[in-house]
Amino acid sequence: MHDSLLRAYGPQRWWPARTPFEVILGAYLTQNTAWKAVERSLANLRDAGALTIDGLRRVPLPKLRRLIQPSGFYMRKAPALKAFVAMLDREFDGSLDNLAAVPSPALRRRLLDLPGVGPETADAILLYALGHPVPVADEYLRRIAARHRLLDPAPGRAKISYNELTALTLRAFARDPGQDHARLYNEFHALTVAVGKAHCGTAPRCRNCPLAADLNHCPGSPLSVI
Ligand code: SF4
Repeated sequence: MHDSLLRAYGPQRWWPARTPFEVILGAYLTQNTAWKAVERSLANLRDAGALTIDGLRRVPLPKLRRLIQPSGFYMRKAPALKAFVAMLDREFDGSLDNLAAVPSPALRRRLLDLPGVGPETADAILLYALGHPVPVADEYLRRIAARHRLLDPAPGRAKISYNELTALTLRAFARDPGQDHARLYNEFHALTVAVGKAHCGTAPRCRNCPLAADLNHCPGSPLSVI
């Protein structure tokens, strides 16, 4: 799937940000929000000089709420961003390099302990901001995995879980032991977002989808190539 999508769409060059800290802000702000709205918030932060660690440290909370209002849930997201910077200052001397030096499993646990950070946000920060070889999953990958019958939900559950999706990605890419896995996970997540937006929405549009041919290899899939 990675190779088919890469042939169809080319390298995605993610994450769309100028600095690792901007990636982190974007990872928080994009929760439950379209990226266009995140871009408006990031532009507000840039104009206010708050798109850096020091800028975010100094911006008062009420002003931060106003600046990130376009991306929604600002009453929750603003204090969550402040909590990230407070953790960085308190435990890592305000340095993203120090943060990135923590081994992936421990760092993931630390990020998940922060307010407003779930598995997808933690993994996006690990991979795209800090360069750790950690896969990221989302609703698009969940749809693709379900529709192509790559996974079934665990008994008694309606949906494939986040951890099952990342475990599937880890197993699939483990077959390429000599590869740069951070680069592969980076590209794969970006490509699944691309195909998800173009074809695999709430209702699948399989015609002309780069993954349509793969449905032929999915016995039991409710979909078929038209
Ligand atoms: S072929 Fe259909 S089910 Fe598969 S990714 Fe494309 S739109 Fe989704």
